Amino acid sequence: MHEASIALATIEAIKELERKEKIKAEKVFIEIGQGSGVNISALSFCLNQITEAENLSIKFHLTDVPIEGYCKKCDEKFTLKSLTSVCPKCESLSFEIISGCELNIKEIEGEEIEGKGSISDT
Ligand SMILES: [Zn+2]
Repeated sequence: MHEASIALATIEAIKELERKEKIKAEKVFIEIGQGSGVNISALSFCLNQITEAENLSIKFHLTDVPIEGYCKKCDEKFTLKSLTSVCPKCESLSFEIISGCELNIKEIEGEEIEGKGSISDT
């Protein structure tokens, strides 16, 4: 299952950030592009399965972000319902998808593990 491996990778990324920032994640906000092919409810299910199995107390907030494309010819941005390589306005092929295919951990809210407000980036 596609979403299961994404969920595992996401949890790994969160753990990495926890170590780096010395926090214990409580809320994690994730943005999922509509063009990424990821099913939000399936991903949410997988994430909850892992947190339950690993006894993590993380709440996930998943939001989908629309697909956006940019046409070099029109010099305009478009919001799309599905992936395309053609400008919806002038049908030019100088059309690029600029967002909506990604999966981003946007924000992590959590408690600092040690000290207060002493974040060093060493
Ligand atoms: Zn165009």
